[in-house]
Amino acid sequence: MNDADNVGRWIDAAARIVALTGAGISTESGIPDFRGPQGVWTKNPKAERLSNINYYMSDPEVRKLSWQSRLDHPAWHATPNAGHRALVTLERRGKLHALVTQNIDGLHQLAGHSPDVVIEVHGTLRDVMCMACGARGPMGPVLDRVRGGEDDPACQACGGILKSATISFGQPLVPEIIDRAMRAAEQADLLLAIGTSLQVYPVAAAVPAARAAGARVVIVNAEPTPFDGLADAVLRAPIGEVLPALCAAGGPAAVASSAVERASPQP
Ligand SMILES: [Zn+2]
Repeated sequence: MNDADNVGRWIDAAARIVALTGAGISTESGIPDFRGPQGVWTKNPKAERLSNINYYMSDPEVRKLSWQSRLDHPAWHATPNAGHRALVTLERRGKLHALVTQNIDGLHQLAGHSPDVVIEVHGTLRDVMCMACGARGPMGPVLDRVRGGEDDPACQACGGILKSATISFGQPLVPEIIDRAMRAAEQADLLLAIGTSLQVYPVAAAVPAARAAGARVVIVNAEPTPFDGLADAVLRAPIGEVLPALCAAGGPAAVASSAVERASPQP
């Protein structure tokens, strides 16, 4: 019995799975990983300035560039892939306690999760927020203003600086959201870390926290992570290939045997 078969059986037996997802689950939807070996920031460190809150608040040029890059963000044309859909299967099977994501692209919700299952620890690109009055609203109408010629659109309530409702570098995380993610991890009977290098804290701490509370830990990631040593299984296969079989009822063994049945000659 290989690792994937084991993981399939553990998922079948689990009742409170917490999935923790990172950029790796969205690369198959055409959204680049900013931190990975092929990442945008790894290749061009200057791009990171656009994501630093201090530059953003102090420099109108940085804000103009940021709005242009939001306009062109691949998320607007991306669709959920087989990995995203596999996690929806887990929710429909009644096994998904929470989906903690570091991604800001909103693809988990587009795949069909109920909104209250998804915990976005780094915020969402699909909303804007006023840095002065805290007003929040959808991104679409603000991007329309940028297209219409406003290169640094201001809050219509107070004139303050608007930004995507994401956590930039130098910006504090939202404590209530991090608490919710950590609590969920501690309640899990199986923690599934998918497409994340587990190097960004505090969310990476959800892995040892879940482990300490008695959960099995499974890591699905192309690159090694600092927590591979404490995981019950580490899978390096592409997420869109391995996750659908893991999350289907019966796991990879059932998927393989039904494939064999389908392949058998009919009498
Ligand atoms: Zn405002």
